[in-house]
Amino acid sequence: MPEKMRAMVLSKLGPVESNPLKITEIDRHEITYPKEMLVKIEACGVCHSQLHSIEGDWEDIGIPPTLPTVPGHEVVGKIIEVGSDVTKFKVGERVGITPLLSSCLNCQYCNEGKEYLCEKMDVTGESLKGGYTEYITVSEDFATKVPDAMKPEYAAPLFCAGITAYKAVKATEPKKNKKVAIFGIGGVGHMAIQFAKIEGCQVSAVSRKEKHLEVAKKLGADNVFVYSSNQKQFLQDVNEKHGLFDAAIVFAPVDEVTDTAIKSIKKGGLVVIATVGKIPNFLAFEEKTIRGTLIGSRKETYELYKMSPHR
Ligand SMILES: [Zn+2]
Ligand SMILES: [Zn+2]
Repeated sequence: MPEKMRAMVLSKLGPVESNPLKITEIDRHEITYPKEMLVKIEACGVCHSQLHSIEGDWEDIGIPPTLPTVPGHEVVGKIIEVGSDVTKFKVGERVGITPLLSSCLNCQYCNEGKEYLCEKMDVTGESLKGGYTEYITVSEDFATKVPDAMKPEYAAPLFCAGITAYKAVKATEPKKNKKVAIFGIGGVGHMAIQFAKIEGCQVSAVSRKEKHLEVAKKLGADNVFVYSSNQKQFLQDVNEKHGLFDAAIVFAPVDEVTDTAIKSIKKGGLVVIATVGKIPNFLAFEEKTIRGTLIGSRKETYELYKMSPHR
């Protein structure tokens, strides 16, 4: 008889108010190959994109690909058992797992360090291997060491929201005094402000909510702008108070916001899209670049943990 574990299992998509996640006893994951490790989960972040997939918002883009699943893809825990070929980690160490649970490590994307684009990747929380449970197994190649001094509940959100923010900031080609605007100050955007400041950028935060802009200021944003659906007025406001931005990152999943972000940057500027949606009007002759971004690589996750404050 395999050991059991408790898990929040999603068998049918639906609004969270209808409690689609049911606590269920399922077979505990076991090590099945030599490089695999068994992790006892200490904390798992609650990511907004996970909420979208639970509620069925992303069904048309194939997320989640199968049911039932155990959602949760910002996982932190302690290693309690290692396979015979594990060399990078020891029992007792704390590790984290991003949405990238595994990839083939053999294709062009994997060889270029963009394993999150691998066609054969497995996503954490889109099978029975997710974070809203007690145990998970992971290859030593897809776990990142969490510093001992960092509390698991602080570390967990960095494994999706954090790496997404970090990579999106990197995608703006940040440098000292570059004027970077961040549209959408939520779970990801508030982290992007901090990473952009570390890079020396002049950061503008844009949100509909004054409360979020207060947080943005506390986190170091140099300028804040209240977003308005009156695009003309918003752009005029930006122009008068600040001037057009060099680059913008869009975290708000609203096409209208993307359109405004594209118009709020200078000619030749860069817009990084870190959300799902359509790109509205795009004028090629302004030589703007639109760049998509998705989580981050294992290397970038490692960099992120090295630079994050340990608490
Ligand atoms: Zn996420
Ligand atoms: Zn691959």
